[in-house]
Amino acid sequence: MAKLKILKIGDETLRKVCRPVDNITPRILRLLDDMVETMRAADGVGLAAPQVGVLRRIVVIETPDEGLFELINPKIIAYSGEQESEEGCLSVPGRWGVTRRPMHVTVRALNRKGETVDITGSGLLAKAFCHELDHLDGKLYVDCAIRMDNDE
Ligand code: ZN
Repeated sequence: MAKLKILKIGDETLRKVCRPVDNITPRILRLLDDMVETMRAADGVGLAAPQVGVLRRIVVIETPDEGLFELINPKIIAYSGEQESEEGCLSVPGRWGVTRRPMHVTVRALNRKGETVDITGSGLLAKAFCHELDHLDGKLYVDCAIRMDNDE
């Protein structure tokens, strides 16, 4: 595995719409491994492929309560409720903002074996689903934050 460089806000790659994955090749599996290692090394809850310069619809998420999710071509298929909470991003270092997100989110995706899985998350996991999937469409949480805290 290898730790990858995380692109920072201002890099045009973060603003591009990512393409779906057609085949789960060894290269894609290696990318998943590297993304997990990079996310853990950076102490993040989630990481999307465009953040490491790969314009593919892939995200990894890990929360203390729910564990690790490796999602290929994820889509939100249901959501409900609302939460207002603090949010940060590995591509926007040193800053935090408050966002309004659904409280419950169900995502449909392929896992690394190519199986379709539906995962419902609440609270932090629901927020992470929204945040990471936004990355795949070139969106950052600063675009939708209802307020940003001051720089460090
Ligand atoms: Zn992010």
